[in-house]
Amino acid sequence: MKVEEFADIAFAAKSMPSFGYGCAVFMQSDIVNFQRQGWRSEEILAGLADVLPKNVFLYVASIPNLAALGTRFVLQGGTQNNLAVVKAEVDFIKSSFRANGKEPEIIVHEHCGESGAIGAAQEALRLWRNGRETTVIGLEAVANIRYHTTRNEDTRCYFCKNNCLRTFIDVDVTGGQSPEHNHTLDAADRVATEEEIAEVVSNLPSLEQIHANLPPLESQGSCSTGVGHSSPSIFKAKVEPLVQIQLAPGSNKVVELPKPAEFQARKTKVPLRMGEQRLIIATCEKGTVEDLDEMKDIKADIDKVKVVNPNYVDIAARDVFRHHDVEVVSDAIPATRGLFISKATKERASQMERRRDFRVGIPRLLNTYTYAPFFNGYFASLGLKSENIIYSDYTTPELYRAGASRGAIDPCYPSKIGIAHVYNLLATKHVKKPLHAIWFPMYDVLHSHLVNLTGSNACPTVTATPETVKAAFTKESDIFSENNILYMDPILNLQDEKICADQMFKAWGPVLGVTREENERAIAVGFKSLHECEAEIRRQARETLDQLEREDRIGIVMLGRVYHHDPGLNHEIMEEFQKLGYPVFSQSTLPLDEDLLDRLFGEEVRAGLITHPLDISDVWKNRYSTSTNHKVWAAKFTARHPNLVALEVSSFKCGHDAPIYGVIEGIIEQSGTPYFSFKDLDENKPTGSIRIRVETIDYFLQRYREDIIKRRHIESNIETQLAVFEQTLRSQPRERYEMAVAGY
Ligand code: SF4
Ligand code: SF4
Repeated sequence: MKVEEFADIAFAAKSMPSFGYGCAVFMQSDIVNFQRQGWRSEEILAGLADVLPKNVFLYVASIPNLAALGTRFVLQGGTQNNLAVVKAEVDFIKSSFRANGKEPEIIVHEHCGESGAIGAAQEALRLWRNGRETTVIGLEAVANIRYHTTRNEDTRCYFCKNNCLRTFIDVDVTGGQSPEHNHTLDAADRVATEEEIAEVVSNLPSLEQIHANLPPLESQGSCSTGVGHSSPSIFKAKVEPLVQIQLAPGSNKVVELPKPAEFQARKTKVPLRMGEQRLIIATCEKGTVEDLDEMKDIKADIDKVKVVNPNYVDIAARDVFRHHDVEVVSDAIPATRGLFISKATKERASQMERRRDFRVGIPRLLNTYTYAPFFNGYFASLGLKSENIIYSDYTTPELYRAGASRGAIDPCYPSKIGIAHVYNLLATKHVKKPLHAIWFPMYDVLHSHLVNLTGSNACPTVTATPETVKAAFTKESDIFSENNILYMDPILNLQDEKICADQMFKAWGPVLGVTREENERAIAVGFKSLHECEAEIRRQARETLDQLEREDRIGIVMLGRVYHHDPGLNHEIMEEFQKLGYPVFSQSTLPLDEDLLDRLFGEEVRAGLITHPLDISDVWKNRYSTSTNHKVWAAKFTARHPNLVALEVSSFKCGHDAPIYGVIEGIIEQSGTPYFSFKDLDENKPTGSIRIRVETIDYFLQRYREDIIKRRHIESNIETQLAVFEQTLRSQPRERYEMAVAGY
């Protein structure tokens, strides 16, 4: 079938199968299934056309409510030549307007195949008018580009442990006219054909014939290289490359052999010809060069940009796990020698002795990204050594793959990695040096900085994950007891310190010989560590925010959940933005200083719309889920701050994010703040598409910033002019001043 016939065939269908939108790979298997079920080709084509707008608007662009965009739609791109697709798009767009009763205007661009290029040309023109110069080499030169690609073991990058395979594209922009390729031949000469070379080679004289024909020793000779020599010995002839051969003995007709390739002097496993330029397609910037020193320069440049544009998502992800010196509040170990020492005292003494070498493993996931400072403080204050409080590694595809096979259920990705993290503790940390316990509490109630909430609960999936993980490691045999490891997953309320103290005491009292009083002191140290860690990152974030305001720059707020700080969950998207010069904040790191909150929310508080700057009751009624509440409040903060834009992230199969997509988008867009999203993130890291989207967003933000600066400039001009005008009026007699103010 020709693609031009698609629409005609699809329109012949009387019914069609319903494709699920999403990844094209799944669609391919859907096609096979539908064929097996007996659907005819025209029906399958109709179904494919029908799903396309869903894929574009819901899957790729994530815009469930098209009516929110306006009423005028232009369909562009070569796909619009397929009328079956156009019909599906028109039906889809119209269906979005059913609720509001409006009729959208839908136009197919009259040059839909070229409209993208027209748009690019218009943008180039705009930039040129703004003083930018083009680097385009011109269409004629483009037609002359010659290139060849190499992707094999010789192109592998060894600058980090990822050892990525790269693609080298060696480009000759001269169209074969570079000095290397450009040796012109005399009219009589030409490059020999393969047959001619073969014929000449087969007729080459034998060594005896050569000897017989050699000139006397004292005479001058010449060889086919054209280089004369007067060697006293025939065995000392100079070796030169053969560049031409006579077609027959005695003939003066010669043919040229292809010139041996000349290569550039550079350190590489893939030699680069003279006149060519190498482009390297790599996973990261460092991999775009081959030379170690060049890579170091690139890294140094990136590091410089990173220092002035902090990424608080990444900083928070590292800082919470850092150990700090805390006050040790444990009791002295009771004496066990002497008379009248009770059994309980002896037992406690031995449990306390254990603390010195007790090794506890903690999976690095979920709300541990908030509560690690609390656990670090608690354990260290009881006398555990910091090197014995061991977290699993950060999430990576390798970590996930190594341990994921035990899972029996398929929850959201942040929960699914639970098994892999516990496996990492068992298979890596425990093997290195034995662990005594794995601490994976069931987070139930969480602390929050917000007010006027209806609850402060963790997502039920978060709460239940430690139990599902436990099941995975005990369903056939108890892997924990086989390894002499205590698996501890008590429920925790981290909002109420007293309840928390009781829960921690019940968990750790019998293991480490902790008394209630000792436990309370350790709880206090834990919460102090937690609050200090949170305050410090917010203090730093405030400095960066102030700097953005001073410099009229843009920062990005990641609207996610605290475990989206995990680089393995956020796929390091934030780092890509940081490298482009955007500081990145998150829902948990935004500053809470009173003056700032008053500037952003003060008017609404005074108008009685909210009770407090940290109140979200105006936008979100079901305020019981802590991480959802924090995300909603961060959206409000971002919407009100002129230097911030929103970047929403969510995980695949998250049941809590779907209901608030519209709320978050609504809050942000109501203020005219740019909103972007990376939704349904899972174990697959689509590096290429992430890069493209990041670059597109960056381009948009550059224009957004230009507009902000222009607007501020205009506003400040108007204010200056008004001030001058007011001054002029005030200097005039009162009557005229009053008339002018009254508008006469
Ligand atoms: S391309 Fe980047 S990520 Fe890949 S090995 Fe090289 S430095 Fe590491
Ligand atoms: S909030 Fe969503 S992503 Fe987080 S644990 Fe619950 S379901 Fe999973």
